[in-house]
Amino acid sequence: MFGACIGSFLNVLIWRLPQEDASKRSVMGRSYCPRCGRQIRWFDNVPVFGWLALRGTARCCGAKISFRYPFVELLTAGAFWSLAFWPPSGPVCDASGTLLAPAAAAFAWQCVFVSMLIALTFIDFDTQLLPDALTKPGMAVGVVAGLYPGLAGSISDDAAVSPALRSLLASLCGLAVGGGVTWGVRALGSAVFRKEAMGFGDVKLMAMVGAFLGWQSALLTLFLGCLFGAVVGVALSLRGGLLARIPFGPYLAMGAVVSLFCGDRAIHLLFVEWPDWQRRNPSSVYLVLTIGVSALLGMLWLLRRARR
Ligand SMILES: [Zn+2]
Repeated sequence: MFGACIGSFLNVLIWRLPQEDASKRSVMGRSYCPRCGRQIRWFDNVPVFGWLALRGTARCCGAKISFRYPFVELLTAGAFWSLAFWPPSGPVCDASGTLLAPAAAAFAWQCVFVSMLIALTFIDFDTQLLPDALTKPGMAVGVVAGLYPGLAGSISDDAAVSPALRSLLASLCGLAVGGGVTWGVRALGSAVFRKEAMGFGDVKLMAMVGAFLGWQSALLTLFLGCLFGAVVGVALSLRGGLLARIPFGPYLAMGAVVSLFCGDRAIHLLFVEWPDWQRRNPSSVYLVLTIGVSALLGMLWLLRRARR
């Protein structure tokens, strides 16, 4: 229920932050119907149930209310529920029901992180922009959250250094690697395709992800974001759509959520189990080459088609 209420606030952010009129950008104050301008009554604003009771039409003027509003509320509720029941930083309570402070703090920071990712995802879908008003505070919040041991991993095992300092350094390192590597990929992509390959907002988003999750998970997020983006890009172009410009932020956000919940597992799979399997099966190098070359040819074919 708490997640659904936060989701309701995220709907406000998603609608108001990209507004061109500065007076409409404030996230304070009551909500008004975008069609007739009348104030929305508090009981119609209750997450999910308000939309269900109204059956998706506004009480004031009968305007259609998008299913996206309850969807964002349900998505946020689901995200908070998942963080509570599959906590990435370990259980929030011990067997006797006593609250474990570090894990509880981690849960709170992770709720903030996932909420920001949800808001950024839908703003990017709508406007193809990732507003500074979210990414810049996101970087700062990520570094502050890094003061909580374990959230961004740890940069060394030296017991002489306090856990908070090690975690803070891991967070700063994540900020630099997440932002820096994405900036490098952006510069390379722009040079190869001779047009902007991705926005600078993506660089700031990745710096924020690095500050929250540490540098290993930031690299995993970038890899997964490219993978998800490529799959959706291929699917869109096969359906005859144009590869003109798909927003990258939503796929990076998806990658960040996967990294948050199963980053350690995925890193183990990529860097321990996969090389082990390759060592035991020497002929697997041909399989990898075949997949790599066909993926490259496929991408070139898609690019040629997109140009035409
Ligand atoms: Zn209205």
